[in-house]
Amino acid sequence: MKNAIKVLGVISMALIIGFAMLACDEDGGGDDKHTHQWGDWTQTTAATCTEAGEETRTCKLDATHTETRPVAALGHDYEWVLTTPPTIVAAGEEKGTCSRDSSHTTTRAITAVTFTTITDMGTWLAAQDGNRIDTAYAVKLSVGDLGGNSSTDGSAGKTLKDNDTKYVSLDLSGITDIGSSAFNGCISLTGVTIPAGVTNIGGWAFSGCYRLTETTIPAGVAIGMSAFNYCIILTSVTFQGTIPSIGDNAFLGDLRDKFYATDTTNGTPGTYTTTDYPVNSSSVWTKN
Ligand SMILES: [Zn+2]
Ligand SMILES: [Zn+2]
Repeated sequence: MKNAIKVLGVISMALIIGFAMLACDEDGGGDDKHTHQWGDWTQTTAATCTEAGEETRTCKLDATHTETRPVAALGHDYEWVLTTPPTIVAAGEEKGTCSRDSSHTTTRAITAVTFTTITDMGTWLAAQDGNRIDTAYAVKLSVGDLGGNSSTDGSAGKTLKDNDTKYVSLDLSGITDIGSSAFNGCISLTGVTIPAGVTNIGGWAFSGCYRLTETTIPAGVAIGMSAFNYCIILTSVTFQGTIPSIGDNAFLGDLRDKFYATDTTNGTPGTYTTTDYPVNSSSVWTKN
């Protein structure tokens, strides 16, 4: 019996010592138990765009007591630049470059733009955010958008003119008739190619497009009266074939008294340029 008590005593002591040692271990191996007094968390491994970092804090009572915790990965901070403008038929693309590391790049698609009316297009243009203002948008228009527009209402020209801080290039494929004043006053246009299949450019169709520097016109297009007047820096006109008729003042130059006199010679194929335009002297378009 006494032996049994002794054995129990030894076992009890062993258990007590064992628990004490366990407690020590749980405290980080320190001999004296205490409530940790943690210092501030400090970053020991910086988080990157894709990998977590780590923070550590140290006990003020025993520097061997430390704790760590992960810091979430930062994620990329992309700054987006439009590289391919969307059109009405095809998606565009933006390239993102990470502000934390320029070697991190990606792309994202910009949904193709669809319009059913010229007014819709104007609304879309107006809604583009500021950092896209200097980007050329290619806009494809349907025949219905252009037929018979006049300058007396919200026509194509006026709608685009209202968005004159946006540079707009035009995809006119499929168009057969450009209505009168269709792009009258579209000061955002810098160039326009009239596609094959167009048979008529209405009067004043591109009048006052004063950033227009060049245009290409296929064979067989009747050019209406004043179609390109006041395009004051238009210095290159290419006729890809014979032009059956050119209306009065079709290429009238500056705001004074100069104009492009129509005659049969000027209706023949070739590229016509002028060098003194719109200087206040008799401007002559020369066939190259
Ligand atoms: Zn501690
Ligand atoms: Zn990144």
